[in-house]
Amino acid sequence: MSTHKPKPGNGRYSVLKVEGGGFIIRDPEGDLGSKVYAKRDWAEEVAHRLQLSRDAASRAGPRRCMCCGQEFESSGIGNRLCLRCRHGFGEADPQSYSFGSMTGRRRAS
Ligand SMILES: [Zn+2]
Repeated sequence: MSTHKPKPGNGRYSVLKVEGGGFIIRDPEGDLGSKVYAKRDWAEEVAHRLQLSRDAASRAGPRRCMCCGQEFESSGIGNRLCLRCRHGFGEADPQSYSFGSMTGRRRAS
């Protein structure tokens, strides 16, 4: 009875059944967590949280600017400032031209 299978090799945490009982979390690098959870639900919950924080830390996506707190489309782990704060003004970043057009549309001058 496997309801959902995490896809391997995609930076995902997964929950594995331990022989003898319990469940452990395997991280995206393939390392197994040392903690054994008695219930699959618990392990899934922890894996989910780990996944969220990993996604937030390492992947592109919406992120809050460390400077002004405004949400913006981050291009990755090193990108924690919105364009305005990074550049000191609202110039478009070539990397991000396809993202984040929901706020602050600007015409190139
Ligand atoms: Zn900012």
